[in-house]
Amino acid sequence: MTDLSVEALPLSRKQIRELARRIRDYLDQSTVYYIDVVRLVEFTLPEKFAGFLLDIQNKADMGKNHGYAQPDVRVMAIREDVYEGACAGRGRDRFTLIHELGHLLLHNSDRMRNRRATGKPKAYCDPEWQANVFAAEFLMPIELMSGLASITDVAVKFGVSRSAATVQLNAYLKEGLIKKGQIKDLPS
Ligand SMILES: [Zn+2]
Repeated sequence: MTDLSVEALPLSRKQIRELARRIRDYLDQSTVYYIDVVRLVEFTLPEKFAGFLLDIQNKADMGKNHGYAQPDVRVMAIREDVYEGACAGRGRDRFTLIHELGHLLLHNSDRMRNRRATGKPKAYCDPEWQANVFAAEFLMPIELMSGLASITDVAVKFGVSRSAATVQLNAYLKEGLIKKGQIKDLPS
């Protein structure tokens, strides 16, 4: 959920990509296309991140919120239907779990500050942008993109929604990391 009163220390996409790569390595997932995000939050993170706690909450308590993170105490709260969606392999819900992991890794209170400026925050200081970029880079790393030729390929192979795949492919295209024409159905 966007809170316009706070911002994070600035992070570029490249910095977030490097962090996502290191975390994939650390979790022994660097060559895995379809990351088992449920196994990650149920087993791997409690083992590798001391104090990590997954808190599945019911719809009545969470309301419209799909999830939230409390980085200082390493708690990841996920709405039950979102968790079930992730278990069933639903791309959007899988993404939410890793978005919250992004908050846990990036947004300890010592990296956050109150915003003085008004208006739209700069993307690279916006914690929601940072968490989305983390999730996209973690779930769809550039190292595994070669040979994939359509949005559907990317969505199926990495277990993400078509819209998340499209956003990430456009980011890679803009940076020149994939060639125009590699992804046949990417709207230009
Ligand atoms: Zn968020």
